[in-house]
Amino acid sequence: MPGLDPIRLSEIVYRGIARIRDGVEERRYYRFRGGRWYGGIATGDVVGCNLRCKFCWSWRYSFYMDKGFYQTPYQVYEKLTRIAFRRRYRYVRLSGGEPTISRRHLIQLLELLDNTRLIFILETNGILLGYDRGYAEELAGFRKIAVRVSFKGTTPEEFEKLTGAKKEFYQYQFKALENLIDAGLRPGEQVYPAVMLSFSPEENIRGFLDRLREIHPVLAEDIDPEYVILYKHVVRLLKMNKLKPRMAYTPDGIPEFMI
Ligand code: SF4
Repeated sequence: MPGLDPIRLSEIVYRGIARIRDGVEERRYYRFRGGRWYGGIATGDVVGCNLRCKFCWSWRYSFYMDKGFYQTPYQVYEKLTRIAFRRRYRYVRLSGGEPTISRRHLIQLLELLDNTRLIFILETNGILLGYDRGYAEELAGFRKIAVRVSFKGTTPEEFEKLTGAKKEFYQYQFKALENLIDAGLRPGEQVYPAVMLSFSPEENIRGFLDRLREIHPVLAEDIDPEYVILYKHVVRLLKMNKLKPRMAYTPDGIPEFMI
């Protein structure tokens, strides 16, 4: 899907994955689970995304709008807290697709979680937070939030090749960091970058780190690197898109260098 506009796609996806019932915004989810990431975290996996990454591990749900089941923010709150308290986790998150597409749903969930001891990690591609400063400010009003902005490549050209979105939208990922920091979230602690590095040559990575330093030096010190995990359904997607990672991991965690 070359030349995709992720802002426009967000609006289309929203109509498929969210609905209002009795004044409450419900969103489609496909799974709730516990897991070892972040030292233990309860996760709700949402349906739908505003990018079409050619390496997406959850593409069977993130590329669609009609899968899963609707949940109110309160139902999500109940499920996440039940998992977290049973397993003594400190963290909860939404993952799978793009959580920011259903804004009212996300904000209401955060309001509920703010009264617990749990920390909410917002895993996002950041496009909507870069596009809409007010959205970043609204999120920054919560005390127990950390925002992990996941960059799709290290240059606008990589971004376009990997996501199918027009390269000018890449800047919104950096803008998300700027907006969140300007709104008061602490860089490196409450807001930090992750980046897909499987397809990036060294010189592009250096340029990417320089760009982060321009926003705040701390951001470049501790990036969260992401590499493709070669699950069968991901390999299928990569092949379909004729995309070859320079480095990836097997599902058992063994690194594979392909170039
Ligand atoms: S932004 Fe994340 S969920 Fe969306 S398509 Fe890309 S990898 Fe998948």
